[in-house]
Amino acid sequence: MLTKKLPSLPSFLLLVSRRASHLTRQQYDVIVVGGGHAGTEAAAAAARVGAETLLVTQKIQTIGALSCNPSLGGVGKGQLVKEVDALDGLCGRAGDWAGIHFTILNRRKGPAVWGPRAQLDRQRYREFIQSELLGTPRLTVLESSVEELLVTEPNPEKTGRHRVAGIRLANETHAISASSVVLTTGTFLSGSLFVGQTTSPGGRIGDAPSSAGLSHTLKERLGLRIGRLKTGTPPRIVKDSVDLSLAELHPPDGHPTPFSFLNTHTRCKPEEQLPCYLTYTTPGVERVVRESLHLNCHIQQDTKGPRYCPSIESRVLRFPGRKHQVWLEPEGVTSDLLYPQGLSMTMPPDKQLCLIREIPAMHRAEIHTPGYGVQYDFVCPTQLSPALQVKSTQGLFLAGQINGTTGYEEAAAQGLWAGVNAARWALSMPPVALSRTESYIGVLIDDLVSRGVTEPYRMFTSRAEFRTSLRPDNADLRLTLKGFEEVGCVSSLRYTEAIRVRDNLQDAMEALETLALSTTTWRKKLPNIHISENKNTSLTGMNLLQYSDVSFEMLASVFPEYLSAYSEFSQRLKIEAVYRPHCDLQKKEIERIQKEENMSLPQDIDYLSLPVSMSQEVRDILNRVRPSTLGAATRLQGITPAAIVHLLNYVRHIG
Ligand code: FAD
Repeated sequence: MLTKKLPSLPSFLLLVSRRASHLTRQQYDVIVVGGGHAGTEAAAAAARVGAETLLVTQKIQTIGALSCNPSLGGVGKGQLVKEVDALDGLCGRAGDWAGIHFTILNRRKGPAVWGPRAQLDRQRYREFIQSELLGTPRLTVLESSVEELLVTEPNPEKTGRHRVAGIRLANETHAISASSVVLTTGTFLSGSLFVGQTTSPGGRIGDAPSSAGLSHTLKERLGLRIGRLKTGTPPRIVKDSVDLSLAELHPPDGHPTPFSFLNTHTRCKPEEQLPCYLTYTTPGVERVVRESLHLNCHIQQDTKGPRYCPSIESRVLRFPGRKHQVWLEPEGVTSDLLYPQGLSMTMPPDKQLCLIREIPAMHRAEIHTPGYGVQYDFVCPTQLSPALQVKSTQGLFLAGQINGTTGYEEAAAQGLWAGVNAARWALSMPPVALSRTESYIGVLIDDLVSRGVTEPYRMFTSRAEFRTSLRPDNADLRLTLKGFEEVGCVSSLRYTEAIRVRDNLQDAMEALETLALSTTTWRKKLPNIHISENKNTSLTGMNLLQYSDVSFEMLASVFPEYLSAYSEFSQRLKIEAVYRPHCDLQKKEIERIQKEENMSLPQDIDYLSLPVSMSQEVRDILNRVRPSTLGAATRLQGITPAAIVHLLNYVRHIG
């Protein structure tokens, strides 16, 4: 399916509006603010659902920009990419188009926690996303900065909530109205950049922060609770100045595995992939960090940064005397730069140069762009519903880094879901939610809206209780059918493909179940396999496939008339067989949780006057968060099982 022909960048950008006066309408169903990873998925998803959508972003050329590492996926994050793809989002196909080094991480563990990952060519990724947006019906892209969010005052006689009315652009007086607005401003909300002792306003290097007007509306008019977080990025290194012979070579997988369920191969051929390199810090690195601490404002701030992607300063200070990994990763096919993953830093540029030269492979390295840090405002996400709508403001949706997450994949997943719900709101359709039992996207959103964040949130497989069911290989079966039949964000082409896959898998599993033979007969047919069961036991093909040394191809070679038609699905069938006993056990638990998940809690419950048997603290938490389901209430920090029983009884009583 990789048949896409991309128009050359300059020609197609001319087709995208740069001026508000070029817009054919001044009223949209959905306006998305920000063209990062959340915003692009939100805009495309809203348009797919059927909403007339406007994407407003500061610079068209940075649509789809990878602000930090040029890579997509990984453990937990790869699952999100597969799910976004299963819902017809962009990032999986963009990864297949732009990937230059594909690996499956965690391969030594079971396929449920494999992490599909690709190193990306930055330019190709941007081009793909921009071209996709251009080709999306009902979507207009406008290059401008949103100065103000327009909201109506709450009407106490009606909902008592604010309602979104539209936006006003910088340097424009008139409004563009919309039923829904999705804010995806990333690290730009009151953003400040830090290098050494210098601080300047900015959302990312070379980009101004979001306007103060936007922050003002969120804080002062809507009264939203806002927090502050920080992150940083490493210097980019001139490739030719690095002695790669002093680093360990890490080749990609021999056969790149595409992210997208629509693709059978990636654009980059196996032999065209580029390697990564691994090297380590030395005691000299630690010395430079310590000597320059007094010149490093960012590291001195108390603001929380990403714990799982820390700066070299934080790593050295937390684990003194240790040798830390540094990955040298390509930035693109034609790029002259390397990205040193693990060396995010904010000391002055001359000290950055001293630091990298303490690593043998970089003893003569040159810096192209220094590393820097950014601090930004985020909106505490417990103020959102599972549709990612601000509870106190009808029609206002938030997605991405603005909700306290970090990472492209987390942003893309939220963006898609916020875009879907913004469109449904605008088109007077009920909101839709994804549960923890059916997707990582559900886990991500539930964690955000019910627990909130105290540090930048990133996805891990350990966050998902049902990870053996939520596998990267089966995201299409979990989400594509629902995405088409219930949500409306999946094309008929993708739906037809998912139905074909589902039917073939079902037929193949039925065929495997029908092949029931005694262990003696199996031993004769597959003499090289060690079958532990005693000789009178009857085993089906599905049972046999659970053995680690039995592949589907082996069974198909013994029974070609029954099985060879399904060879295309051999790996998926093997995984299904291995996980089936686990998943069958989990099914009951999932059904119980789904019942609980689905029990809605009325939004007008007066929590503060609930029975006194519930502590004041519990009542305060419930009143502040206003969980939309009993399941969400269960996961709130500080809510005891006893409180849940009281709440359940109360809701049954008033229902
Ligand atoms: P972004 O990708 O930041 O996109 C926001 C978009 O909104 C931009 O296009 C901007 O131009 C636009 N915008 C903002 N305000 C307005 C406005 N008023 N009007 C119009 N458009 C507007 N992630 C990691 O996982 N690990 C890391 O180590 C890491 N380090 C990072 C270091 C730095 C310096 C930065 C900047 C980011 C880093 N990230 C890291 C975060 C990663 O880039 C984000 O998680 C991801 O890009 C978030 O996507 P987003 O769509 O929410 O926001």
